[in-house]
Order: sequence, then structure tokens, then C-alpha cells
Amino acid sequence: MSDELRELWNEVVVIPDFPMPGISFKDISGILANPVTFGITVRAWADAVRPERPSMVVGIEARGFPLGGALAYELGCGFVSLRKEGKLPRDVHRREYVLEYGTSILEIHRDALNADDRVVIVDDVLATGGTACAAVDLVRESGAAVTSVALIMDLPFLEGRAALEGKGVRVHALIDDDGAPYPNP
Ligand code: AMP
Repeated sequence: MSDELRELWNEVVVIPDFPMPGISFKDISGILANPVTFGITVRAWADAVRPERPSMVVGIEARGFPLGGALAYELGCGFVSLRKEGKLPRDVHRREYVLEYGTSILEIHRDALNADDRVVIVDDVLATGGTACAAVDLVRESGAAVTSVALIMDLPFLEGRAALEGKGVRVHALIDDDGAPYPNP
């Protein structure tokens, strides 16, 4: 599996100083555009999270949607969207959080999950962990349990993983910011 994971880095484009000076943006769209790397990603996550017996995948807008939808299909789970402010039409739980660059708000429909749900949260990149921690809080506020967060890449120097593990959530990242397969428990 770790040889396969090395292929993911070939599809990552690093854009210096985007969206602001000092940020090294990791564009993972190529991983989705290539059916080989898309498949490697989804199967690696599915293998990692299956023992946690998830019932639902929650994807964070926007890249968590195609990634999370594919994982949900692979696992035979349902899929729920966590959206940016003002997009969901019915009653929501909401959380404001701090990003590597600025602040943002995430929302989830209040009736999207229930107490029986065991949730894996999906996003593309883990930076400070602010987004993923807000997602964990929203899922818990909805009454469901979070088993883990699945990501393509962790930027270890920003210590998002420690923030999530401090909340009692497992982190399944596939590669680090040099493209090396990431050590997972
Ligand atoms: P954070 O909340 O700081 O962990 O940031 C994670 C969220 O912001 C994810 O949804 C990423 O898509 C995006 N993000 C933050 N930093 C980067 C980066 N350097 N490269 C690509 N995406 C990033």
C-alpha cells in the first residue's frame, strides 16, 4: 500500500503564496481527476475505517464532497454534507472556526444525523485542524459519534492531528506535505 500512496504526490500541485503570501497551497484536484489515484485514495481510507463500523460519511465543503461521496459508496454508508454558511435550506447547527488563512463558518442540517450514527468525516488537507475540529463539534452537536477523520494530506508542522486526537478522534491521513506515506496507528 505505501508504494501506491507514493503515486498520490505525483498528482499534487503546490502553489506558493496562494491564497495569500506565505501559504503553500496543496492542490489535490489531480488526485480526483486521475481514476488510478482516486481509487487508491478511496480504497486506502475504506480499509482504514471499516473496522470502526461507520454508518455515515460526512464530507466538508467542497473537496470533501466528491471524496466523501466515493468513500460512502465504497463502504455502503450514507453521505451528509457539511456546508459553508447560508447554503443549507433548513434548520442548522453552525460553528465559526479559524483557518490557516482567515475564519469561516460550517453548518449541518439539524436532522441530518441521529444518535445511532457512527461518523467518519472526510476532507482533503489537514492544516491547523480548525475546520476538522469544527466538523467534529457539529457532528457531536447533532447527537452522533465521530469515529475518525479521513484526509489525503496532513501538514504536520501545523499540528492539526494533535488537535483532533485531543478530541478523542482517530486521524487517517495518507501522505504528508513531502508526499511520503503518513504513519497511521
Ligand atoms: P485547517 O482548518 O487549518 O486545518 O485547514 C483545512 C482546510 O483548509 C481544508 O478544507 C483545506 O482544503 C484547506 N487548506 C488549508 N490550508 C491548506 C493548504 N496549505 N493547502 C491546501 N488546502 C488547505
